[in-house]
This record gives sequence, structure tokens and C-alpha cells, in this order.
Amino acid sequence: MRRTLIAGNWKLNKGPAAAAALASGIAAGLKNIPDRADVLICPPFVSLAAARDAAAGSRLLVGAQNCAAEVEGAFTGEVSAPMLAETGARCVIIGHSERRTIFGETDEDFVRKIDQVHAAGMIAIFCYGEQLAERRAGAEQAVVVKQLENVLPKLAAPTPENLVLAYEPVWAIGTGETATPEQAQEIHAFSRGVVGELLDWNSAADTRILYGGSMKPGNAADLLDRHDIDGGLIGGASLDAEPFLDIVRAAPAS
Ligand code: PEP
Repeated sequence: MRRTLIAGNWKLNKGPAAAAALASGIAAGLKNIPDRADVLICPPFVSLAAARDAAAGSRLLVGAQNCAAEVEGAFTGEVSAPMLAETGARCVIIGHSERRTIFGETDEDFVRKIDQVHAAGMIAIFCYGEQLAERRAGAEQAVVVKQLENVLPKLAAPTPENLVLAYEPVWAIGTGETATPEQAQEIHAFSRGVVGELLDWNSAADTRILYGGSMKPGNAADLLDRHDIDGGLIGGASLDAEPFLDIVRAAPAS
């Protein structure tokens, strides 16, 4: 049984004070919501400790949006996976489309970073998904295969417990345009098959695959009800407590 994961990606928003306020609001709201899903927020690095403290004593988990491919040394500006774990992070997002396109990160970077996340005892949330032109050309499945096969078989120790996938069609991220539940389910089921071939079929059945791309209260239930959609990675709608909590409320009962 795959437990639903609702994860907020705050991107470059919320300094420590704002992060503490939002984390407290979410933590307080969770008390009144049945415990049907893991709930995670991923603030900027500098806000992790404030968010962790605000979430203390609640079931709200804290994670990071990126990490270094190295553990320590002369890498100015980087933050390593063990440092994040020490700060209380339980998960790290790797391979977000913004890291790919704006910061030029490569599949090789993702392999090294995910291995670092695992070595530090955390869960990696690995993002993948096609661009609009690729979808228009009918190439979405080919893109998904390539992105997964360039990374998953090269990982040192992936398990369904330490690796979560997040299918994020790039044309749906921050655009207000969401993949239909049918489009998302189709790629999720397809991705699960790819994971089965690349890793093994038991892992594939147990691996959580999140959907990301303009998930919001109005469309969350329809998406989360689909068999192969095991949660959401949420940008815009995670920046205020109420819409984010509404998405948590939409998690299916079983
Ligand atoms: C994201 O950045 O991972 C994301 C899904 O953003 P949004 O929900 O705003 O589309």
C-alpha cells in the first residue's frame, strides 16, 4: 500500500519569519485533518530550522529543494545532504525542471545528488517530465523513459522507501494549466512500468509517484483518486496554509 505524500515546494519564497508563520499554520490545521497522508514542506535552506521548530510536535515534515553533489570541501555556496539532515530535513527534491533549465543540472548531477541524499538517510524526490513542445510532438513517453533510464539504474541504493518520483509536465508547472487526471494517470502508470523494467517489479509497485503541475484544491481530489497518482508536489498552492491544507484534505481514504 502506497501512502499518499503531499509535498509543498516553496521555491524562492518565505524567509525564516514567514516560513515559521506558514509552517505553524499548516501544523495547526493538520490537527483537524484525518491522518491519511504524509505532509511535507520544502522551504529555502535558510528557513529550514525555523520551519522545523514551528512544525515540532506535529506530523508536518520538513525537506529541502536541492543539495550539493559533494559532502564537503571547496564548493562555495553549496549545502550538503548531511548538513540538511542535521537541520531536520527528511526529504530533498532533486531534478526539478527549474534546476534542469535555469541552472543547467544534468542527469549525472542528479545521480550524484540522489546518492548523497540516500547516504545521509533522507528520501529523494526525483522530478521528471516533458516540455510543451515534446508533448505536442507526442514524445512524452520517450522523454520520460530517457529521464528515468539515465538516472535510476545508476543509483547506488534506491528503494521504494528512499526514492519518490514526481512526474511534472513542464507545461503545467506554474502555468495554471493542469494535466487532466487521465493524462497524468496514463504517464504515471507508464512510469511505473518503466521503473519495473529499470529496477524491479516489486519496487515499482511500492514506489510513490507524485503529480506536480498546478495542483490546487479544485483539481486535487480528481488527480489523487487515480490509481497510480500517489500524491502531489505543489508549488503555488503551497504558499498559503488554507489551499495547501485543502489539498491534504483531498487525499483519498485508502
Ligand atoms: C512545482 O514547482 O513543482 C510545481 C508543481 O509548481 P506549481 O504547483 O505552481 O505548478
